[in-house]
Amino acid sequence: MTIRTACPDCDLLVTVPALPEGARAYCPRCGASLTQGGFSFQLLLALTITGIIFWITSLVQPLLVLEVNGVAQAVGLWQGTISMLHQGEILLTLLFAMTTIVAPVLQLGIMLWLILPLAWGKRPWALGWLFRLFRDNEQWMMLEVFFLGVLVTSVKLSAMAQVVPGWSLLAFIGLMLTIAAIQIAFDVDGYWREVAQCT
Ligand SMILES: [Zn+2]
Repeated sequence: MTIRTACPDCDLLVTVPALPEGARAYCPRCGASLTQGGFSFQLLLALTITGIIFWITSLVQPLLVLEVNGVAQAVGLWQGTISMLHQGEILLTLLFAMTTIVAPVLQLGIMLWLILPLAWGKRPWALGWLFRLFRDNEQWMMLEVFFLGVLVTSVKLSAMAQVVPGWSLLAFIGLMLTIAAIQIAFDVDGYWREVAQCT
């Protein structure tokens, strides 16, 4: 199956012929790689499940523990969202929940939906629609922005209280790295070649 694709670096339109297992195609103009190292079902499944575990941990564990005069107060992602809602910041809460909590798990869930049926040689249901949602949803994930915000807040709060990072923060870093790894590991062309062989 030949694929017509645009080079990610220089936008040159290139027709890539069907490649043998493990072969890669490069842009004739700038030499950028046009295909990734092949679609790896096991790697993507492992990364996705790891991401889901990190996501659950980031929600249930405390993000930061603040100690003022010997009194410790745990601050979590979930409680933070609820208290923001109680303060009447509905738009802000929605935006925060969408970019930090919903978008990552939606991304992981769709990934699982896209790859799991391939194990049984089946084409995923609503494939085209979900694939577009997967691509659109990428723009809604702003984990790095939130992480930077937590770092800045921690530094500012450290003048008033002792700030101890909680398990949620570590899980959050893990989630960021796992989602980045999925984006790198997901060979889209290889995926569509696999789908073409499914019923
Ligand atoms: Zn190029």
